Amino acid sequence: MAIKALRGMNDIFSPEIHVWQLVEDHARKLFALYGYEEVRTPVLEELNLFVRSIGETTSIVEKEMYSFVDRKGKALALRPEGTASIVRAYIQNERAQSDPVARYYNIGPMYRYERPQQGRYRQFHQIGAEVFGIANPRIDAEMIHMVDQFFQGLGIDDLEIELNSLGCPICRPGFTKKFSEYLDSHQSSLCEDCHRRTQKNPLRALDCKQETCMTLMKEAPSIQDDLCDECEGHFDTVLTHLGHLGSSFSVNHKIVRGLDYYLRTTFEFTTSQLGTQNAVAGGGRYDGLVRLLGGPNVPGIGFAVGMERLIELILLKQKITPSVLAPTVYGIAMGDAAHELMIQVAQSLRRSHIFVEIDYEGQSLKAMMRRADRRQTPWVVIMGDEEVNKGIFILRNMGTKEQKEIPMGEVQQLPQRIKT
Ligand SMILES: [Zn+2]
Ligand SMILES: [Zn+2]
Repeated sequence: MAIKALRGMNDIFSPEIHVWQLVEDHARKLFALYGYEEVRTPVLEELNLFVRSIGETTSIVEKEMYSFVDRKGKALALRPEGTASIVRAYIQNERAQSDPVARYYNIGPMYRYERPQQGRYRQFHQIGAEVFGIANPRIDAEMIHMVDQFFQGLGIDDLEIELNSLGCPICRPGFTKKFSEYLDSHQSSLCEDCHRRTQKNPLRALDCKQETCMTLMKEAPSIQDDLCDECEGHFDTVLTHLGHLGSSFSVNHKIVRGLDYYLRTTFEFTTSQLGTQNAVAGGGRYDGLVRLLGGPNVPGIGFAVGMERLIELILLKQKITPSVLAPTVYGIAMGDAAHELMIQVAQSLRRSHIFVEIDYEGQSLKAMMRRADRRQTPWVVIMGDEEVNKGIFILRNMGTKEQKEIPMGEVQQLPQRIKT
C-alpha cells in the first residue's frame, strides 16, 4: 500500500499554491512598511514552553497539543501557535538588552492534535506578528490597522473588527470573581465544557458557542464595569486612535481568545461566510508574558491570521483566481544540434527575465505541440536539423498561429519581438 500523508495534514499544489505565495508576499511587503522583520523559530519546542505561556487549563494545552516524548525522555511539542516561540527566542537571544523595542513577523505551520474537520487541520498555517517593548496603546491601534490593511489589500473588505479589553492583574480578578458567581448561580444552564471550566478558567464561558451558554452570557456581568482607570484609559486611546487611522470596528466584551496570557486589548477579525469558524485573525496584548517566561519586564502585543481560512475566503469570493503559471516561450527542438542551440536561445531569453520551458521528452513534433498547447504558452520556438543548417529558428504565435523564420543572429531581439 502506498504511504499517505498524516490525517489532518495537507499537500498544497498549483494552482492554489500561487494564492498562498501571493498572500505571503503581500504580508512581507506590508509588514516591512511598519518596521517588522521576519523571525524563523523551530516548529518543535519543549512542551513546557506552551504549558507555561498558553496556560494549563486552556483547551489548547488540555486537549490539542501535538506532543510526544523523545528518545531521551524529554517532553516536546510541535508549536500550537507562534507567540510563545517568538517570546522564547526574544529572551534567549537577549534581544531586549540594547533596545527592548522590536517588531517581528513569522509565517509557517502550526500543529494541534484535534479531530480533523472542515476548516480544522492538525497542521495549519499562520501569519503572525509581535511587537515588544511598547506599552503605548497607540501601537495596539497601529497593529490592528495594519491587519485591516492586510485584508483590504487582498480584496477582503467586509470583515468585522471586534475589540475588547480583558483588564489587568489589578482589575480582572474582581471581574472574574463576580463572573464566577454568576456562573455558579446558573450551573444548570451551562454546557459540559463550561461547567468544567467554572473552577479553573471561567472567562472562557464568555465566548462559548453553545446555544444555552450564549443565551446565559447576554445577561452576564461585563468586564467593562470593572476595568480600572488605567485599563479604561488604555482601551479608550486604542479605540480613538484606531478611528483616526480609518478602521471601522465594534466593541465586543465577550472576546476573550483562548489563551491565558492576554490582558487589556484583545481583538478578532471575523467573517460570517465560513460557517461557525468565524475568526480569520485574532490577537491581543500580553504584557506579563516575557517576564513569565524568564525575561525582563517588557510589554508585548501580537496577532495571528489563519492562512487556511483566509485562502478559503479569497477563493470563495473569487478575489484572486488561482492560475497555473504558463511559460511565455515553449522550446521545441528535434535532434542533438537543435537542442544545443535551443539551450542558448533559452538562456538568452531567461537573462531578459522571460519564462522559458524546453520540451525534453517529446517523441514527435505533434506530441510536443500538444504539450505546448496544454501549457497555454503564447509563443513556441521550433528548431530541427533543417533550421540548424539554415541558421534560423521558427517563432510561432500560438494565438494567431502565425509562424516566422528568424535568423539565429537576431536572438537578442527576441524579447522585444514577443512583447509586441
Ligand atoms: Zn486594569
Ligand atoms: Zn458553554
